[in-house]
Amino acid sequence: MRIRNRITLLFTVLTASLLLIFATTVYLSSKKNRESEYYNVLKNEAITKANLLFKVGVDAHILQDIYHHNREVLDELEMAVYDTSFHLLYHDAESIDIVKETRQLNDRILKEKEIYFYEDDWQVVGLVYLHNDQQYVITAASYDRYGINKTKNLLHTLVFSFCIFIFVIYVVGLYISKKAFDPVKDITDSAHKISASNLDMRLQVHNSKDELSEMSDTFNAMLDRLEKSFDAQKEFVYNISHELRTPLAAIIAELELTNSKERSIGQYQDAIDNALTDSRKLTQLINNLLDLAKANYDTSEIHYKPIRIDEILLDARQIVQRTHPNYKIDINFDREIEDENEITVHGNEYLLRLSFINLFDNGCKFSNNSKCRVMVYFDKAQVILKFSDEGIGISERDLGKIFNQFFRGNNSNYTDGTGIGLSLTQKIIHLHKGDIQVYSQENIGSTFTVSLPHNL
Ligand code: ADP
Repeated sequence: MRIRNRITLLFTVLTASLLLIFATTVYLSSKKNRESEYYNVLKNEAITKANLLFKVGVDAHILQDIYHHNREVLDELEMAVYDTSFHLLYHDAESIDIVKETRQLNDRILKEKEIYFYEDDWQVVGLVYLHNDQQYVITAASYDRYGINKTKNLLHTLVFSFCIFIFVIYVVGLYISKKAFDPVKDITDSAHKISASNLDMRLQVHNSKDELSEMSDTFNAMLDRLEKSFDAQKEFVYNISHELRTPLAAIIAELELTNSKERSIGQYQDAIDNALTDSRKLTQLINNLLDLAKANYDTSEIHYKPIRIDEILLDARQIVQRTHPNYKIDINFDREIEDENEITVHGNEYLLRLSFINLFDNGCKFSNNSKCRVMVYFDKAQVILKFSDEGIGISERDLGKIFNQFFRGNNSNYTDGTGIGLSLTQKIIHLHKGDIQVYSQENIGSTFTVSLPHNL
């Protein structure tokens, strides 16, 4: 069932229940009031009639005549009078005899002085009447036609208005819930229209600051993020294709040219050397891309454990120097390591090593002296690493862009590269809740400061 209908139904059932309780209370209390009022009337009429009989001394036949005449037009009270020994002294109409008096009833009235009960639909009052120090037992019965009709009419009115009311409430409830859910329908319709090809579309946000506007805002913020990452992915794929195409085109051109006519052995060797250089570039690029993809994993998929930064730095230096034996890398510590916890961070060994390799590699490859050094500071809160070189430096114009994927500065013609290293390094440091900053001056050198908290 749709929420709209469910709410309308719930609303109707709730209102119907409340209305039913209200109507039942009104009906029952009016029924009770009628009953007790009529008992009072009965009692007073019985006493008046007994007064006429005993005190005024009206003849019993006259009273019986009045009863018979009145009975035809009114619901006349029928009275019977007994003495304490259950001898009938007076009866309005013995032939009709609504109340079937017994000795037990007589005794009960004498004992309780006043009793009220029903004889079929007739209300009966039994009471003790005192005259000349003599006790008499009176029973008086009558049918409250007027009161009962009034109560019946009230019941009909209540049932009728209850049905009308519920119907109206259901219809109004449907209308109101439709109005209330209209914005949800708008949101659903708009959301249906949003796909990968029109990620720039947004849900309509109404002016009112209600829950639905909040929901639309949240959805729109999510779409902003999705659009951004979608654009980034598109750009990434575009850049990768471009980067892969260049060395491949160079290899193909080189081989085609060589193959176009017969060459000397030396020329063949040159062609093979060139193709090999381009293939190595391709391999380096693909390796970098694989690392980048790895760092882009959902953080929950990356395995973290406590690792010593000094050990990772030594590993990274060894790996860099294996491929570039001419690189000189110095690792220095601010002070002696007394507490190994201070040099330990909770991180991923492979990714951190990769980022240090990139920083060592950049420092050396962008320096004439192929030298770079790292200074390690550590305390209870974090480990700070300053990678510095005395190389060619970075121009001010490029400084803000060097962490962008595939960006290579205007100094890049100085050496080979893919433009992935620093963006990958930044990604890794951020995954470790750390920070990376750069300070550089052209022809003086660069310093990359990495700070890593001990815990994520
Ligand atoms: P790559 O080194 O493959 O070109 P990176 O992402 O590692 O790509 O670096 C991006 C750019 O930042 C480099 O092309 C270079 O212009 C600049 N850069 C990075 N590190 C240094 C450094 N130590 N000295 C001078 N320039 C640097």
